[in-house]
Amino acid sequence: MTLLRFRMFERALDHKPVEVKAPSRNPSDYFGEKVFGRQQMRKYLNKQIYEALLDTIEKNTPLSTDIADAVAAGMRGWALDNGADHYCHWFQPLTGGTAEKHDSFSEPDGIGGMLEEFSGKVLVQQEPDASSFPSGGIRNTFEARGYSAWDPTSPAFIVDTTLCIPTVFISYTGEALDYKTPLLRSITAVSNAATEVCRYFDRSVERVKVYLGWEQEYFLVDDALWSARPDLVQTGRTLMGHESAKNQQLDDHYFGAIPQRVLAFMRDLEYECLKLGIPLKTRHNEVAPNQFELAPIYEEANLANDHNQLLMTIMGKVATRHNFRVLLHEKPFKGVNGSGKHNNWSLGTDTGVNLLKPGRTAFENLQFITFLVNVIAAVHRHNGLLKASVMSASNEHRLGAGEAPPTIISTFLGKQVSEVLDKIEESLGNQDIRFDSKNVFRMGGLAQIPSLLLDNTDRNRTSPFAFTGNRFEFRAVGSSDNCADAMIVLNTAVAEALTEFRTKVDAKIQSGEKRDKAIYETIRELIRECKAIRFDGNGYSEEWRKEALQRGLDCETSAPLVLDRYLDPQSVDLFEKLNIYSHKEIEARTEIKWEQYVKKIQIEARVLGELAMNHIVPIASKYEDVLLDKVCKMQKLGLKTETDIKLIRNIQNRTATIQTLVGEMIESRKVANNIENTREKAIAYHDTVAAYFDRIRTEIDKLEEVVDDQIWTLPKYREILFVK
Ligand code: ADP
Ligand code: MG
Repeated sequence: MTLLRFRMFERALDHKPVEVKAPSRNPSDYFGEKVFGRQQMRKYLNKQIYEALLDTIEKNTPLSTDIADAVAAGMRGWALDNGADHYCHWFQPLTGGTAEKHDSFSEPDGIGGMLEEFSGKVLVQQEPDASSFPSGGIRNTFEARGYSAWDPTSPAFIVDTTLCIPTVFISYTGEALDYKTPLLRSITAVSNAATEVCRYFDRSVERVKVYLGWEQEYFLVDDALWSARPDLVQTGRTLMGHESAKNQQLDDHYFGAIPQRVLAFMRDLEYECLKLGIPLKTRHNEVAPNQFELAPIYEEANLANDHNQLLMTIMGKVATRHNFRVLLHEKPFKGVNGSGKHNNWSLGTDTGVNLLKPGRTAFENLQFITFLVNVIAAVHRHNGLLKASVMSASNEHRLGAGEAPPTIISTFLGKQVSEVLDKIEESLGNQDIRFDSKNVFRMGGLAQIPSLLLDNTDRNRTSPFAFTGNRFEFRAVGSSDNCADAMIVLNTAVAEALTEFRTKVDAKIQSGEKRDKAIYETIRELIRECKAIRFDGNGYSEEWRKEALQRGLDCETSAPLVLDRYLDPQSVDLFEKLNIYSHKEIEARTEIKWEQYVKKIQIEARVLGELAMNHIVPIASKYEDVLLDKVCKMQKLGLKTETDIKLIRNIQNRTATIQTLVGEMIESRKVANNIENTREKAIAYHDTVAAYFDRIRTEIDKLEEVVDDQIWTLPKYREILFVK
């Protein structure tokens, strides 16, 4: 071990659990205390203002200037009472992550003093000078105006001493420059379409809500060891490192006892999150060493996504207090599982019905099957686009790695639901379907789906899009992703399917068909159309790839090419007709995704090249020199030297290969950098630059196995991954 590596390891071992000041109160006492929620609103706003604001939140009624002023005054009062001295519009630009620009509440009062000010105008809209955020060419920097505008449906909150106001971020010509704007648009689209379909079943439904429950996977590493790994520091993942002899083979980490240091971190994090109104519920060890997961109770999608964004920031802050670094990269370590962010998604009515949950009556079940089938039809039609929504330079390492969802989107429905769909499909106009078992499924009048469905427990871990009893779980989302991209595509695709469904059913009704029969027949047509997306088998197998190709599913694996799906005519049409993205917006966003791909790979290539040349090759050569010295001395004594010479050759070959490959990689980069077109450039980076990563790494990892551990500079997997 080199001195630095040794010191860092020693420091890591010295890090003890940091005891959190255990809150003496119950979570219910402090939950949401840093949020300007309903209780706080009631206290700080008068009744009339409070009710007007609720109308805006629940029914999208526009807010008048007077009311905005009154809300701002109340919000300011609450914020000052709770220790805030600054405020900011908090938004989600396309860099990923969140942005905030703080302003002080204090303003000169005109008579030499200061006054705490915060008007409705400032609450509602601001113009951050945000010319450096990616816009994909929508904004030239000389017309850099971008506006942030208040989203009243997501409550303001206080972080440290700043009042944060969730906002959308749009260009001065109205194009979305963030994740929230299109997410809100897509929620409206699917909510409207679903409400229309719900009306077949219950005329009292006024609104359908979209729910999201994310599960966040992450790794923790000691910050001392992290800081001694330039690849982790700069790229968020290890670009080299030999697998440790023991990693996850024994499955002894999964759901195991949580290490004390980690538990202290988790409790601290939970405390902070609960105060911010993030309803965290579950925590456990994940499969890989040092990998963990947490999940809240699901919420309406917009709020849930804000909470996830906020969580990711808070995680980083809390981790440093515990001498940890949080890794949200999808594949930070080779040879062990990567991290995802499962998105549990469902639709529910304002009357309290989960539309993806089998019901008790035949009628409820027809509604359930209607929504279920429309979701899988949507996933079928846009499977390539759905994959594009979660594709990135980092998630590309995880998807298809044989432990995460494969790069082919399919749906898993479980045996029961599949049988029900098969029966419906076969019934050929005859609605009288029966199961043999005692869970009778009758279609005499209509569906009587067995209540056993409720615990649909046969889960398929390899499926990217699984039905799990009362919701769908989209598992291909990456751990570092903003959930919005995936949710936007899903919401929009389902909105399209439901709209078409309604049109078809209405047409049948108009031509004299009874309503229930019309619904049933349309479901049957859909089941037939989208059969190809249903797959309950092993998604990792080679046979599945072949079969999926035959079924016409999107099997592309190269990230830049997967992103092409955004610009397919049927995608552009989808986004345009439902007012999610204009053609210009969708082009801009895809451009940004390619651009980010290029930048990520470019940085990784540089870091890898540098580390290879100024850490690995010199260290290996130093050891080689020692061996050469030894061989010369041995030969003088007439001793046998073959094995040493073999080792020298091995090292020599590998260092030479590394130098050659790094040289070639640099050349490829130069060529790629000269390409003007961003898409072409991304493809070149994928095919000709990133293609070197594994080849170089293999040589380095082999050297790590043989070079004297005393002089190896970089902390090894066995050190990074097992610090407790
Ligand atoms: P698992 O790991 O078995 O998938 P978890 O309990 O870790 O389950 O996470 C399940 C997630 O799904 C939680 O966030 C939970 O709140 C969410 N969830 C449960 N029911 C629904 C629903 N109807 N709609 C959306 N999300 C849901
Ligand atoms: Mg899950």
